[in-house]
Amino acid sequence: MSIQIPFDNSYARLPERFYARLPPTPVAAPRLVRLNTPLAELLGLDSVALASPEGVEILAGNRVPAGAAPMAMAYSGHQFGYFSPQLGDGRALLLGEVVGRDGRRRDIQLKGSGPTPFSRSGDGRAALGPVLREYLVSEAMAALGLPTTRALAAVTTGETVQRETAMPGAVLTRIAASHIRVGTFQYFAARSDVEAVRLLADHTIARHYPEVARAAQPYLALLEGVVARQAELVARWLLIGFIHGVMNTDNCAISGETIDYGPCAFMDAYDPATVFSSIDHAGRYAYGNQPRIAHWNVSRLAEAMLPLLDEDEDRAVEAAKEVLAGFGPRFEAAYSGGLRQKIGLSTAAEGDGALAQDLLSAMAEGNADFTLTFRHLCEAASGPGNNGAVRALFSDASIYDKWAVRWHARLGTERSAPAERAAAMRAVNPAFIPRNHRVEAALAAAVECQDFSLFEELLGVLSHPYDDQPGFERYAEPPGADQRVYQTFCGT
Ligand code: AMP
Ligand code: MG
Repeated sequence: MSIQIPFDNSYARLPERFYARLPPTPVAAPRLVRLNTPLAELLGLDSVALASPEGVEILAGNRVPAGAAPMAMAYSGHQFGYFSPQLGDGRALLLGEVVGRDGRRRDIQLKGSGPTPFSRSGDGRAALGPVLREYLVSEAMAALGLPTTRALAAVTTGETVQRETAMPGAVLTRIAASHIRVGTFQYFAARSDVEAVRLLADHTIARHYPEVARAAQPYLALLEGVVARQAELVARWLLIGFIHGVMNTDNCAISGETIDYGPCAFMDAYDPATVFSSIDHAGRYAYGNQPRIAHWNVSRLAEAMLPLLDEDEDRAVEAAKEVLAGFGPRFEAAYSGGLRQKIGLSTAAEGDGALAQDLLSAMAEGNADFTLTFRHLCEAASGPGNNGAVRALFSDASIYDKWAVRWHARLGTERSAPAERAAAMRAVNPAFIPRNHRVEAALAAAVECQDFSLFEELLGVLSHPYDDQPGFERYAEPPGADQRVYQTFCGT
């Protein structure tokens, strides 16, 4: 069987200084751990062929499929606020692009495929735990309805990689609208290569923002588009309790997708200061700091794009500032609108913002679980008699009761029927998120015992996050005192 992948590699048509061409480095003994069949079908790929020995060789990097143009993309980035002029794909290769059944163009990337000219001191490899973690969390995010890169496959390599200890090696096949980052623009700006910044902007417009091509100032409109998508994305992160963990500018996708699932995590009890990443000592990327950082990141994009915005530098700066000033209002609109939906309000009234904020404060004070509070509000919305499940989440139920009186009064001013309201609330308040303790348990069983059953079960539950799933209620539960996970690691 020969696998046909209908590649159409637009990034490979950009100049040579955008990347380094090289094939993946073969591994000893590829074994397929997981293939995402529905995603393969969406991409127009033959999932049976991908699961065959030849397909697995492709997914492991042991065979380059016909039509691929494997390359390590060049980029730089601000890491924890400090600029690194040269990062690039140090352990990943873009195989190429395909246009899926839905007409959308997407990158197919191998992550963990061996060293590249951008590897610096790294080994170019990935360990099984982080690969499975990215698989789980990115697919959970997709099922939750957020813009995100996806996971097409995970394979083990039959080799070990040395981290804190020796770990089984693995390769993730990542699918993305593209892998163009804020850091890709910064790479060329740092080299004063304005021509390349312009080519990249044109490529980005054609690929991700075709509607701005006809604007009076397309590059300014592009910046505005990226600002809008980042503001919306970070609002949606907050609304589901997601903490990215490493919002460096190289991990900020121009397409508006969530990218790079390293030490990311979902919050259990609500606390805006929550930080999981073991390397984020200052709390730069804490849950509640994410909007500020997203704004900071798009400001770095604006800097890189300045020469495109106006010939006159002062005017370019003024134009950029004006666009960047739009971030706050866009974020606020997406966030407060989302909160309003989460508490069951279909109309907007004076005081709704304060009502929602007061719930969050009550959750913080009462140490209440973020996800379950909103999920149980779906039942509680039908009347004051149904508050039992929410009350039980608060260390002191009277904290909730005080708030609930105001909430029920406000709900009384709405016209929507209770059943309709409950359904609308369930559609935005998930029951199932990738709880850290569940993720850790699934990874430990896979890595330490080659037992992938927990991983499979968790993945299955997370593919329907808004449905009640009888028999799987335990996956909705927060961790017990002895199960709590306080830190996550990049594990790169
Ligand atoms: P990340 O923290 O995954 O966003 O990666 C930041 C930079 O480090 C990127 O340029 C990666 O390609 C590079 N990198 C991370 N892990 C490795 C590795 N094991 N080998 C080579 N480069 C790596
Ligand atoms: Mg990265």
